[in-house]
Amino acid sequence: MVLAEMGGRIIGALQNLSNATIIDEKVLTECLNEISRALMSADVQFKMIGTMQSNIKKTVNLDDRAAGHNKRKIIQQAVFNELCNMLDPGKPAFVPKKGKPNVIMFVGLQGSGKTTTCTKYAFNYQKKGWKPALVCADTFRAGAFDQLKQNATKAKIPFYGSYTETDPVKIAQEGVERFKKENCDLIIVDTSGRHKQEASLFEEMRQLAEVTNPDLVIFVMDSSIGQAAFDQAQAFKQSVAVGAVIVTKMDGHAKGGGALSAVSATKSPIIFLGTGEHMDEFEAFETKAFVSRLLGMGDWSGFMDKIHEAVPMDQQPELLQKLQEGNFTLRIMYEQFQNILNMGPLGQVMSMIPGFNQELMPKGREKESQAKVKKFMTMMDSMTDEELDSTNPKLMTDSRIYRIARGSGRSLREVHEMLEEYKRLAKVWSKMKGLKIPKKGDMSAM
Ligand code: GDP
Repeated sequence: MVLAEMGGRIIGALQNLSNATIIDEKVLTECLNEISRALMSADVQFKMIGTMQSNIKKTVNLDDRAAGHNKRKIIQQAVFNELCNMLDPGKPAFVPKKGKPNVIMFVGLQGSGKTTTCTKYAFNYQKKGWKPALVCADTFRAGAFDQLKQNATKAKIPFYGSYTETDPVKIAQEGVERFKKENCDLIIVDTSGRHKQEASLFEEMRQLAEVTNPDLVIFVMDSSIGQAAFDQAQAFKQSVAVGAVIVTKMDGHAKGGGALSAVSATKSPIIFLGTGEHMDEFEAFETKAFVSRLLGMGDWSGFMDKIHEAVPMDQQPELLQKLQEGNFTLRIMYEQFQNILNMGPLGQVMSMIPGFNQELMPKGREKESQAKVKKFMTMMDSMTDEELDSTNPKLMTDSRIYRIARGSGRSLREVHEMLEEYKRLAKVWSKMKGLKIPKKGDMSAM
């Protein structure tokens, strides 16, 4: 994802501030120019970049007497806030309310990922106890109904559509009525797209919105559309009352900057991101957490949520304490492996820790990674308490390694591999020593 590259460049620009002895107009301008170039390379709209530059300059008063260190912090916080502002239109999206039939209409160009996203959205709510239903009002694309039917069947979500009816408005109306009678609380209407913005498409959207009277219209956009995002999003907004945005294919090589333009064009927040073709590759979007991740600060709020989900309440303070102490023993590694295995898809959690790379758990190879983690754990089962609790790497002599290999039925090479992994993770872990785990959006950990 190029957005990650953009984040890297912004981090670089901010780090240059730390290397400068005095922060004057010239240093600030250089830093802002580099940030602007980073944003431009990710296809963020030129006008938005200009606004951001001048807002930061306004916030950072170089004449004040703040010491260099504080000035840096002020600039970093201003960059963080501006990126958040770009992604946050200032008004929250409609949140479906339980106990009433919420009608949600999806719009977007053909291929944006609309049909896939409708099911992901429905599935996300179904997991939380909602009763969603899907209506296929896409009569334009051959095979659209089959695709929705297949997805819905897989997720066990009721669906409605027709192979013979050619009027999408009629299908939408019938589908919504039927699911209202069946007491579904989330009725999702998938609509047609076109390859490009056409008057006929927008007219169809208008009619569909009129008969279904949606509580929320979601604009789905492919993260790779770049500079075209602003016009496209605006064109939809002019036809129907778009109230939220979902950006798909964030897992690809897309530049992603178009997402920011879509927010600005529709004055609507991003609510979810599509991160793969599968049903559960779907993430709720939280601006501050996203920007934190973008700037390499780690998504602490997401990480904490995951910890709360997976680690028993009484163990949480202990885990956080260990994180902050920075001393990583093999026992901690063992416990973290246990936590990771409980937390479902590997990688999700650990990738949220700043600096944890994907080596241990590359995306798409979760099964293999789990097997590896389990193998490491069997070897650790053959270790003594002294070995598990030590932070002294010299303790692991050849004879101890030999005993562990024999005890676990593994080769010496495999035990060495496990110890190498331990060393690697210990290095990452040690970076968190003394780190204050920040509240959402706090920059002080940077
Ligand atoms: P529609 O024409 O807008 O309804 O688009 P589809 O839902 O048919 O999606 C078009 C293609 O994009 C399909 O091959 C999907 O599997 C794929 N797709 C949708 N969302 C994502 C995503 O988040 N990541 C990836 N990699 N592919 C996606």
